[in-house]
Amino acid sequence: MYSSEFDDKSRALVMAIVGVRAQCPKCGAVFSQRVQSSFLAGQRVKCNHCEFYGNWRFGTLLEGSRLSNTQFLALFFRYTLANDAPAIARQLNLDPGTVRDWRERILSLAVIA
Ligand SMILES: [Zn+2]
Repeated sequence: MYSSEFDDKSRALVMAIVGVRAQCPKCGAVFSQRVQSSFLAGQRVKCNHCEFYGNWRFGTLLEGSRLSNTQFLALFFRYTLANDAPAIARQLNLDPGTVRDWRERILSLAVIA
């Protein structure tokens, strides 16, 4: 249903939603231009200031998740409109429990600071 090319195009928006910055997610060091472009392209990078080795999902809501960027976006936006886990699960080829779990995680972002 979704191509990986579309998933790549979704990445920048997902990064913005979950608050990714072009810096080390562990120590906050500013990445060099080369490391920064790899990081923003979704690749794993190594920080020169700490032991961090990983990608942009580290420390975000998506850390450890296997959801694609496209699946995350669809969950994120559709749940602002409807709460029909079985239908969304079918459309995204996910388990309804996964959809409900992600609804909780996404709604937990909506805390007014
Ligand atoms: Zn670091």
